[in-house]
Amino acid sequence: MAAKAIRAVGKVIKDTTKFLKDSGKGELANDLWNLETEMKNLVVENQKLQDENKKLHEVIDNVKVKEFRDNCYYFDGEGPFCSTCYDVRRIKVRMVERNNNAGSIYNRCPECKNEVFKCETDGPVYYV
Ligand SMILES: [Zn+2]
Repeated sequence: MAAKAIRAVGKVIKDTTKFLKDSGKGELANDLWNLETEMKNLVVENQKLQDENKKLHEVIDNVKVKEFRDNCYYFDGEGPFCSTCYDVRRIKVRMVERNNNAGSIYNRCPECKNEVFKCETDGPVYYV
């Protein structure tokens, strides 16, 4: 839940609690106050679980067979993936081939535009 939404819910609970107390419904006000405390605890717990989930995904990525070849990553034989995106942002972006029509083929990252030389061609090849 976004912080803005949490603050909005907190304000509604605070206003409602005050209204209930002023109306002589102190018990209901206490129940609502306890509910707000529980909500805050759940938000904190949810954030901890999200952080833990992120760390576990990083562990899983490191356990997979990661190979660095020709300036690209391969995971369990799949790839090539952009090394810049993976090293900096921990996201796997599949490289796509780009022919420069001058005798060379490059692997290009569609996200960060990183390009690495793949191989020479026999000559200019024009994609139709
Ligand atoms: Zn990239």
